[in-house]
Amino acid sequence: MDISQIVNELGEDREQYFNAVAPPIIQTSNFAFKKVADLSKAFEDEMGGYLYSRGLNPTVDILRKKLAALDGAEDCLVFNNGAAAIFAGIFANIKAGDHIVSVKNPYTWAQRMFDVILPRFGVSTSYIDGTTIENWKEATKTNTSFYYLESPNSWTFALQPIREIAAFAKSKNITTLIDNSYCTPIYQNVIEMGIDMAMQTATKYIGGHSDTLGGVLSGSHAMMKKIFDSEYLNIGSGIQPFNAWLLIRGLRTLPARLDRISRSTQQVVTFLKQHPKVESVLFTFDENFPQYELAKQQMKGACGLVTFSIKTSKREEVVRFCEGLQHIMMAVSWGGHESLVIPKCAGIPGNEFDPSKPEHRYIRLYVGLEEPGYLLADLEQAFNKLS
Ligand SMILES: *Cc1c(COP(=O)(O)O)cnc(C)c1O
Repeated sequence: MDISQIVNELGEDREQYFNAVAPPIIQTSNFAFKKVADLSKAFEDEMGGYLYSRGLNPTVDILRKKLAALDGAEDCLVFNNGAAAIFAGIFANIKAGDHIVSVKNPYTWAQRMFDVILPRFGVSTSYIDGTTIENWKEATKTNTSFYYLESPNSWTFALQPIREIAAFAKSKNITTLIDNSYCTPIYQNVIEMGIDMAMQTATKYIGGHSDTLGGVLSGSHAMMKKIFDSEYLNIGSGIQPFNAWLLIRGLRTLPARLDRISRSTQQVVTFLKQHPKVESVLFTFDENFPQYELAKQQMKGACGLVTFSIKTSKREEVVRFCEGLQHIMMAVSWGGHESLVIPKCAGIPGNEFDPSKPEHRYIRLYVGLEEPGYLLADLEQAFNKLS
């Protein structure tokens, strides 16, 4: 289906609500029944209709239909945030004694789950350099039941050969989940590449305005029903109707925003690459990116995240640069209207900072919707503050 139709029409039954262009926020906890038989039916299969908003809700359903279609998936569930989507997708598909293979340095809260929560249930995780299919094959044991991917990965943007990994996993009956937050389904269709579950945080590009959180898990209807009937209902981590409404609104402009951000980011990358104070620039669609060929094969676009380092061995200089920005804010997250910067060293205790490790000096920049010239001027004046 055409992207324009998905974001503007799909799932919206406007005649049901006065032909309003924007959908209503059905802010209700429960739904009334006239017949006991209908109530019984709803108890039997809560995913079959409206009973209670911890399960299905009509506003959330509009969003579900759109997001599933964007992913090219049969169905999807929308969570209160991305971390909850990751948790449910993994937890519903593992049991005591299982083994997981994950890319190294996955998203913080996926890693916490692997390191802190799952060992309590006898589930172990191996972290690998996920850039080659051989590494996945080698790490796979007889009890491996789950592969966790994130392509591109945070900070270094390492990619995994998604099709090959998905095909191998299928041959071994291993369930696959990928964090597709960097690209969104607009720029990378992981379901079509054979992945079982596509996860993305809707907090970032889908919302697009840094004013709500949300998380998406897409896949087969059978997989979504399995998760709905257990983790989704039991943990109660489904999205609230108002937040779903904000995400529907965000979706209206998603393709236009990504297009603008991609073009601005290209300009920022060109600026950084020629800058005398810049040591290195990592961007997936830059010809010098180590996996440029694979990026071009798997991704239709690269959006707004760039990692770079400045020519210095001092933590103070990295700090001076980040604090010297006047318009680009320092904050976690990304995908909103506002450009953001975050230095890796913020998460490294001062005495562990090792300038010989390039990654300790990384600065991640997210390019938002501002005029590119405005951003370049801000970067330039911050570079000028360096000694
Ligand atoms: C932010 C983020 C998440 C988690 O999303 P929340 O909505 O903040 O819970 C997961 N993966 C990646 C890559 C992210 O950047």
